Amino acid sequence: MAIDNDNDNNNGGGELCELQSSSSPSLMANYERKIVWRNVIALTTLHIIAIYYFCTNSMNPSIQWYHLLIPDIFGRLSGLGILAGAHRLWAHRSYRARLPLRIVLMLLQTMALQNDIYDWCRDHRVHHKYSDTDADPYNVRRGFFFSHMGWLLVRKHPEVVRKGKTIDLTDLWADPVVRFQRRFYIPLVILVWGILPTYIGHLLTGLPWWECFFGAVIFRYVYSLHCTWTVNSLAHMYGYRTFDRSYEPRENRLVTYLSLGEGYHNYHHVFPWDYSASELGWTKCFNIATLFIDLCAWLGLADQRKKADQKLINDRLKRTGNLDEYQRQTNRNFHQIFIDYLIGFIISEHLLWITFALRYWSNGTI
Ligand SMILES: [Zn+2]
Ligand SMILES: [Zn+2]
Repeated sequence: MAIDNDNDNNNGGGELCELQSSSSPSLMANYERKIVWRNVIALTTLHIIAIYYFCTNSMNPSIQWYHLLIPDIFGRLSGLGILAGAHRLWAHRSYRARLPLRIVLMLLQTMALQNDIYDWCRDHRVHHKYSDTDADPYNVRRGFFFSHMGWLLVRKHPEVVRKGKTIDLTDLWADPVVRFQRRFYIPLVILVWGILPTYIGHLLTGLPWWECFFGAVIFRYVYSLHCTWTVNSLAHMYGYRTFDRSYEPRENRLVTYLSLGEGYHNYHHVFPWDYSASELGWTKCFNIATLFIDLCAWLGLADQRKKADQKLINDRLKRTGNLDEYQRQTNRNFHQIFIDYLIGFIISEHLLWITFALRYWSNGTI
C-alpha cells in the first residue's frame, strides 16, 4: 500500500511466481524489529477518522440510506482493482487483458491505495514463493496481527528485501500501463483515490464535500484495507487445507465473502496461476472477481483464462490433499449455491446492514 514499510525498489529478478513450502529456518533471532512511526501515525489517524465517521454520520438522520451506498460502491470497485487487476492479472498472469481493461483495472487499483502495481506484485510473488517464512512479507508465523496489518508498521525483514530482489518482474515492467502508473502514482492517487470519489459522491448526494471525503475516501479506504488483509491473516490461520495439508493457507468462507472470492486460499497457493483462484467458477461458488473476469471475457476484453483441469486437481488431492473434504465442497446443488450467494451477500455487506439496523434503532427509519 502507499503506507509503505519498504525503502527498497528493485527492478530485477529471475524466476516466475511459484510456490515453495515453508520449511526454511527462521532468522527471527537475528532480526531487530524497527517500528515505522510514520505508518503507525497514518494508520492510527485513518482508523480514528473512519470510526468517528461510522459512529456519527451513519446514524445522522439528515443522511439518506442511499448516501451510504456511495462508500460501499467505491470500496467494491477498488477491490476489483486489487483482485482482478493486481492479483490475478498482474501478479499471477492468470489471464490476458486488453489495453482498455488494463487501464480501467490500473485506475481501480490506484483507488485502492495499496502501493502501485509493481510493488504490490513484487510483495505478492515473494509471499507465494516463500509463503509463511521470514521472506514472506505477511508471514503468518509472526502472529495474526502481524500478518493482518502489523507488517506495515515495521521495517521489512531483511529476508523479504533479499528474496524480493530475486523475483522476476520484467513482465510487469514490459507493460506500459504499469510503467505509467508507477511514474505518475502520486498525482494518480490524489485524483483517483481522493478527488474522484469525493466529487462523484458530492454530485450524486449533494452532501458537503468534506462529508463525502470522510465517507467515500477515508472510511471506504480503511474498511477495504481490512477486507483485503483478511486474506493474509484469517486465510492463513483458519479453515480447511483441502488440496495440500502441508501448506498454511486455508479455505476460509468468511474471507471469501469479505474479499469477494479470495478465500479459497489453499487451492490458490497450490494453483496460483488459476484465474478463478478456486477450483470452481462463479456459477458453483461465491466468487465475484471470477464473475467480473468472465464478464470481461464475454465482452472481448479478456482471454487466455488459465484453469487447472480436473485430472490435475485429482492427482494433487490424491498426493497431498483431502478428497472427502473436496467432494463435500464441490458436490453442491442449485439450492446450496443459492444459499452460498445469499450468505455471501449478507456477510460481504454486513456493515451496511449493521448501519441500517442502528439507524432504525436510533431514528425509527433507515
Ligand atoms: Zn496467501
Ligand atoms: Zn496470489
